[in-house]
Order: sequence, then structure tokens, then C-alpha cells
Amino acid sequence: MIVVLAYHSIQTDTYAHSVNPEVFDKQIRWLKRHFEILSLIDLDRLLHHPRRPAKHKRGFASITFDDGFENVLTNGLPVLAKHGVPGTVFFPTSFAGTSVTNTYGIKYTYLDWNQLHAMEKTGFFTIQSHGHDHLVLPEVKDEQTIGTELVRGQEIIRNRLGKTTDFYAYPKGKWDVRSRKVVGRHFRLAFAGDGLIDERSCNPHSLPRVIVTRSMSFWKFKLSLHPWFWKLKNRRSSAS
Ligand SMILES: [Zn+2]
Repeated sequence: MIVVLAYHSIQTDTYAHSVNPEVFDKQIRWLKRHFEILSLIDLDRLLHHPRRPAKHKRGFASITFDDGFENVLTNGLPVLAKHGVPGTVFFPTSFAGTSVTNTYGIKYTYLDWNQLHAMEKTGFFTIQSHGHDHLVLPEVKDEQTIGTELVRGQEIIRNRLGKTTDFYAYPKGKWDVRSRKVVGRHFRLAFAGDGLIDERSCNPHSLPRVIVTRSMSFWKFKLSLHPWFWKLKNRRSSAS
């Protein structure tokens, strides 16, 4: 089993997708103790060449952030650097340097290209794709528009950061068979939400993640890294 954690904001505010920096630090410290933490490049390699985790580790884990809020640089990166673990930001290219006031009335600034460049340079972070306009793919009318959304995101990152993007995260974690097919033409791996990755039976273009939210207690965080937690949860939701 492989755990991919999906964070959004690392901040002390009341936004549901914010995780307090101190809580984040505690989670990463615990994760590092129990899991072998991989970059997505290493995770991709692992899916193609399965191996056992290092001695005394329960499994593999990778840390990702969606949307590219500036607080990931100011509050998240120092924690990853302190623990010496890699992370990935899935970035929607049209958001660069803009800001938004969310439904909680909280103003958020997105990373700009200088910051994204600096993050990529640290060696702890890699910037990957979250599309161009953060389109929720199952809601898009035609395949051509999906293709344009994906290619634009990749091209802009290539022009700005001089790198290719092989990994994609579905905005709002939403995908369907049609969008997964298009995503499969452009990316090696694509990530959604709600679950752990079973390397023996996963589809590389709809890999589940564990979405970490503000309301998640430390106990619940640890619980959600167990395969049986998701088995039980999925059984319950299919029964209801
Ligand atoms: Zn998003």
C-alpha cells in the first residue's frame, strides 16, 4: 500500500482545507518515522518496479499540495526542509501571482513564477500540473477542451520553469472514464482523492490520495493511513 497525502493550505485560519503549521509538522514527523517518503518520480518508479519498504517502515508515502497557495512556500516548505522530505505542488498555471477571497472570507495569494522557480530549485519541491484554469474535467463539454486545458498547463510550466510535467492532480479530485482517457495521453500518473494506492491493482491515471483537512484529528490522520479504514468506509458508502 502507498499513501499519497493531499494538502491545500498550511495556515492557522478557519478554512476547511487549512492545516495548522504545527499540526503539519507533527504529521510529517510521524509519517517520516513510519513510512518511507518518496518523491512522485520515485513513486512512479515503484509502481513499475515494486519493492519492499526500508527496514522498520510500514510502507511508502508521498506528500502533495493542490492549488499552490503562497503559504505552502512560507509555512509548508520549511517543515519539509527541516525533515528532509520531498513534496509536490500541483499548480493551475492561470492562478500564478493572483489572489482570491474564498467562501470563508479569507484572502489567499497564489504562488508567482519567481516563487515557483525558487521552490523547484530547493530540491525539496517539484511543481506539477493541476491544469491551466483548474477545470473540473467531468464538467467539461468536449474532449478537445479537456486536451487544451491539460496541454496549456504543461506548456506554460515548460516555458516558465524549463521542465516537463509528468504528473497531474484532478481539480476537486473529480474524474470520469472520458477525462481519465484524455489525461492518460498527457501524463504518466494522475491523482484524485479518497483512498490508498494498492500497487497491485491501481490505475495509474486515477490514483487515490488521502485529503488532509483542518478538522482531522491526529488520531484520524493515523487511522486514515490504514487500508482497512478505507475498506470499511467504502463498504459503508456503497451500502448507503
Ligand atoms: Zn485544486
